[in-house]
Amino acid sequence: MAKSSGGNCTFCGRSSREVNLLINGISGAICDECAKQAYDIVKEQMPGKKTSFGLEQKDLPKPEDIKNFLDQYVIGQDDAKRYLSVAVYNHYKRLIQKVTTDDVEIEKSNIIMVGATGTGKTLLARTIAKLLHVPFAIVDATVLTDAGYVGEDIESILTRLLQAADYDVDAAQRGIVFIDEIDKIARKSDNPSITRDVSGEGVQQGLLKLLEGSIVNVPPQGGRKHPDQKMIAVDTKNILFVCGGAFDGIEKKIAQRLNTRVVGYAANENTAQVDRNNFLKYITPTDLKSFGLIPEIIGRLPILTYLNPLDRSTLRNILTEPKNSIIKQYIKLFEMDGIQLAFDEEVYEFIVDKALEFKLGARGLRSIVEAIMMDAMYSMPSSEEKSLQVTLGYAKEKFEKSDVNRLQIA
Ligand code: ADP
Repeated sequence: MAKSSGGNCTFCGRSSREVNLLINGISGAICDECAKQAYDIVKEQMPGKKTSFGLEQKDLPKPEDIKNFLDQYVIGQDDAKRYLSVAVYNHYKRLIQKVTTDDVEIEKSNIIMVGATGTGKTLLARTIAKLLHVPFAIVDATVLTDAGYVGEDIESILTRLLQAADYDVDAAQRGIVFIDEIDKIARKSDNPSITRDVSGEGVQQGLLKLLEGSIVNVPPQGGRKHPDQKMIAVDTKNILFVCGGAFDGIEKKIAQRLNTRVVGYAANENTAQVDRNNFLKYITPTDLKSFGLIPEIIGRLPILTYLNPLDRSTLRNILTEPKNSIIKQYIKLFEMDGIQLAFDEEVYEFIVDKALEFKLGARGLRSIVEAIMMDAMYSMPSSEEKSLQVTLGYAKEKFEKSDVNRLQIA
């Protein structure tokens, strides 16, 4: 093939002067516009023959590799990490299989993670997306409502994904969507005969369509504000949905269920081993149903896992251990001004104490560090001082000076 300075396009007949580019073949030539059209036709006519996303099985990170990667960013939560690693690995095997054979069709395994807020659900999903280089969108289920009501339509979930994929539909179709606060669209009662609530069952039914895999017309700009926009058809068959929720109060339902069994089958030694500090460990799909998720949705979220509450030592590790831990980030910020920042070990304990005292969890760690560092971040860039050792005394003084009440609300 060669660029031409003369001749005509064999397809449209236009001369090289009338087109941007003319590519010569052995016995003909094609202009840039015809080449583009030809490419579109090939894409349309041979959807099954697409080279997918260029990954082969040997390129895929194995579940253990995925977990090791997650370990660099997320502290603890081993069970959730293992479940996620396997699910994501299988998901991608599925995508690859589609390209080469079509014998045994592997079904999609969407995931649901149950755990208190701030225990790392979003962080896990985000980190997975970072590893796989696929479009990733986070949506909050609380804003979703049945079509026609105030709020966002279900399709808006896919708008976010399309935006994350820069409107590359193919890429979006193999992306990952994290739906946060899925528990907020639970039916208010386990009794299906109760009159439907706008933000409950109707939304679950809508969501079901996406989870099952269907072709959905998505408004590229989202919302109902642009009624004239041209819809984009998105196939959700290969999109991996990861749902997360705190499911406040579900522990009680789990405890009840465990207890019933104890009574029903006479106490056996298993009951003695129940970890009463962490009932989530024993969660089953039945508990999600009692909480108000419809069985069809539960069926489409076959991988159910849980996150542990963050204890003192986990909080302490979160502060310094992850690859981009809060403390490492502050050290980096100061380093960019040529300032060497270091912390006394006791300061870390103090920060964790405060996070526990104000029940702020991992999210609070950042606000507390922020409160301690604010003065130094304000004044040091314009001072001669080139190092700062944060001692317990310094941390206490700055923290007490800050608006502690504001932290409490955060
Ligand atoms: P969730 O989605 O469960 O409400 P997030 O994943 O948004 O919680 O966590 C909030 C923040 O707390 C994260 O950005 C992260 O900084 C920190 N965090 C929470 N859990 C962990 C964890 N297990 N390891 C490291 N950081 C964590």
